Amino acid sequence: MKKLLLVRYGEISLKGLNRNYFIDTLVSNIKYSVRNFSGIRVSKIQGRIIVDNYDEIDEPDIIDALRKVFGIVYITKACQVETDIEVLKDQAVKIMQGYIGKSFKVESRRANKAFPIESPEISKLIGAHILKNVQGLRVDVHEPEIILGIEIREKSYITYENIVGEAGLPLGTSGKGGILLSGGIDSPVASYLMSRRGMKMYGIHFHSYPFTSKNAQEKVVDISKFLAEYNKGFELTMFSVTKIQQEIIRNCNESYLTVILRRYMLRIAEAYAKQMDLKVLVTGESLGQVASQTAESIICTDACVDMPILRPCIGMDKNEIIKHSLHINTYEKSIEPYEDCCTVFVPKHPQTKPKLERVLEEESKIKNSDELILESLNNPEIIRL
Ligand code: ATP
Ligand code: MG
Repeated sequence: MKKLLLVRYGEISLKGLNRNYFIDTLVSNIKYSVRNFSGIRVSKIQGRIIVDNYDEIDEPDIIDALRKVFGIVYITKACQVETDIEVLKDQAVKIMQGYIGKSFKVESRRANKAFPIESPEISKLIGAHILKNVQGLRVDVHEPEIILGIEIREKSYITYENIVGEAGLPLGTSGKGGILLSGGIDSPVASYLMSRRGMKMYGIHFHSYPFTSKNAQEKVVDISKFLAEYNKGFELTMFSVTKIQQEIIRNCNESYLTVILRRYMLRIAEAYAKQMDLKVLVTGESLGQVASQTAESIICTDACVDMPILRPCIGMDKNEIIKHSLHINTYEKSIEPYEDCCTVFVPKHPQTKPKLERVLEEESKIKNSDELILESLNNPEIIRL
């Protein structure tokens, strides 16, 4: 009996003329995700993807890897056997011995019409054989815990367990984007959500070392490691905004500190994104969560760049964001109490409804803006994971 995994995709099968492009990208992403398992083979056969030729003890790890590949709706455990009713009966018994205490039903499909037994009869024969040879199983045709699928082809398949995948779109099919990554709970989730829609993400982090610690930067690197698992690696670029922050504090009204710093961050991020050929910027903002995330603040920050800024968490409650953050394993890291550059000098009374005119007036007090931006932009620290 040869074990294998059938990969099933959903949404991408609807993609019309681009279908092949989506499926080929999915196949190549699957190959990348299982590249460390020796001998493993990933092939596109008859409208589906088969992963086989691996060492059986690796199967749980392979499934874990596939569960992080976007575009996969189900991973189905299966085995390939000779198209012979006696062989099928015996293998079905072997498989069901692993599910004692469960309810099951057999579903058959005869794609190879040269096979002399019709589908309902195949199910009946195999079901009866299982009940006779494995104790402690029962048949439930309405809500079975295990559906044993029998697929009769030139070689036949027995399928027996479905594992739910991430769904979404294959990474890379939506281009590239830049995620402003802070080390908090929300921005890693935003990065994951965009990767899930097929966008390959590049991390952008701003620090104010030595006012923020090296540990705070390490934390962002650690978070990036988790994101890398969903993003075929992760490139994190870190820029210093120390000088900029000092200039803002020296020149501008304190209550505008956060919104002006945000605007500098976005300008640097946009310039970097253009160098890297990224299409959009992404943040972890959620409407109204804090003073800098009101509609008025967003108007003021967006006004300084041309590139679209996407905010996949904008309509989510904190609890929903936390749920995703637990799912991608970043939560524990995110709640570690290291300072972010936005939290080092927090104004006592930040503007919750800043007016763009006033922001521009305050910002114009900084005379060497372009130089400050260039200095930060030209001294990145790049970490590839
Ligand atoms: P998060 O949990 O993502 O830190 P937050 O609720 O703490 O978000 P803010 O600190 O207001 O909210 O930040 C809003 C967004 O701005 C973040 O989600 C992130 O995209 C971006 N951002 C904030 N600080 C930084 C930083 N130091 N470097 C890069 N991006 C940042
Ligand atoms: Mg934050």
